[in-house]
Amino acid sequence: MEFRLNEEQSRFQREVRAWLTANLPPGWGTPAHRKPEEPAEKVAFMRGWYRKLHDGGWAGLHWPREYGGRGATPIEQFLFAEEYTRQGAPSMIDIGVGPGLTGPTLIHHGTDEQKRRFLPAILKGEEVWCQGFSEPNAGSDLANCRTRAERVGDVFHVNGQKIWTSYARYADWCILLVRTDPNAPKHKGLTFLLLDMKTPGITIRPLVEMTGVAWFNEVFFDDVKIPASMMIGRENEGWHIAITTLSHERGGSAPHARLAAELRDMIGVARGLGHGGAPAVADPLVRQRLAQAWIETEVVRLVAYRQVSEVMRRGQPGPEGSYLKLLWSETDMRMKDLGIELEGPYAAVDRGDPRAVDGGRWQYEYLWSRAASIYAGTSEVQRNIIAQRVLGLPRA
Ligand SMILES: Cc1cc2nc3c(=O)[nH]c(=O)nc-3n(C[C@H](O)[C@H](O)[C@H](O)COP(=O)(O)OP(=O)(O)OC[C@H]3O[C@@H](n4cnc5c(N)ncnc54)[C@H](O)[C@@H]3O)c2cc1C
Repeated sequence: MEFRLNEEQSRFQREVRAWLTANLPPGWGTPAHRKPEEPAEKVAFMRGWYRKLHDGGWAGLHWPREYGGRGATPIEQFLFAEEYTRQGAPSMIDIGVGPGLTGPTLIHHGTDEQKRRFLPAILKGEEVWCQGFSEPNAGSDLANCRTRAERVGDVFHVNGQKIWTSYARYADWCILLVRTDPNAPKHKGLTFLLLDMKTPGITIRPLVEMTGVAWFNEVFFDDVKIPASMMIGRENEGWHIAITTLSHERGGSAPHARLAAELRDMIGVARGLGHGGAPAVADPLVRQRLAQAWIETEVVRLVAYRQVSEVMRRGQPGPEGSYLKLLWSETDMRMKDLGIELEGPYAAVDRGDPRAVDGGRWQYEYLWSRAASIYAGTSEVQRNIIAQRVLGLPRA
């Protein structure tokens, strides 16, 4: 694998950097600038920011050019994500799953009419999408999905419940996995639908997470009518469409860049905190822990580079992606544990209290870091994939 960028890649990296410098909101990333904080505010801000990315030619970077994307190579996507994250640009999470999941799924499996209707609005940030897959008994085992859809003529009547649906309250549309044949084996009998979130019969209840923020939702369906023209692929063949969606769930990120930026900030905090009359960074044990976190972040960076090299070589991500996801999510949790430990007794002082260290940022980050060990496949599920598909170990 090659660690140095060639001239073309370096030029691309400079182009991303220059565009972000010229276009990020004035003062972005400085203490003087107040970033949007609450979910509703974040999504509203992101609609405008994504439009800006689109106008600058950066939206749907990995989508083919014929669908309005940039047709970027895996290394260009990676360099964009790395530079974007390094500059602390607005988190792409806040635009929902349209560009990352719905778009690629429609490009693979949608009809021409569906592509014409939905792809341009996703790229311009005009329509925000949520993902209605998980249910109370169908998370890791997604094929256990029970939300029922019965077809009457050209309309599906949907009844049931989804859970953990991020952004559902702010989303315009939802990619929805439903059971259309309850008698078929569980991977069969599923259908993939597109749901307008304004359709009558939908009830959304926010779920407050341990961070105190209500980002998730429960979504209930009471005879929600979806026209058959909103079906992707064929009836009862939704499982392989959902697999396409999930195969895009872990791509296109540069977790090391975020970890490195956060670690730099954490070192700044350690310089300001006192341990026994001296700055915390003077304490040899603290120095050792910070150095360990730095080494781990470097390992994440190298594994991320190896992963993108693999994608370039084979044309698609392999199960080794599970290793990167497991590694960065667990490194993230260890780093946030350290952030909390550094604060000593102040760790108990949360956001909103004037005595909170760094505005209570690390309390929030500590709690939020747990999420990455669950979404896009839990750590246990990643370990199963590594054991069976990477190491070739037998099933227990
Ligand atoms: C921040 C966040 C955002 C999310 N957003 C969405 C969203 O927008 N839309 C959506 O549909 N879902 C979303 N999810 C849900 C997520 O996909 C599920 O939480 C995840 O798939 C795990 O499913 P579960 O919660 O039902 O846990 P379960 O599958 O019930 O797992 C419970 C425990 O059992 C373990 N386990 C399960 N199966 C195995 C196995 N085979 N071997 C070993 N251990 C196992 C798990 O690792 C876990 O520890 C989100 C989750 C989070 C945390």
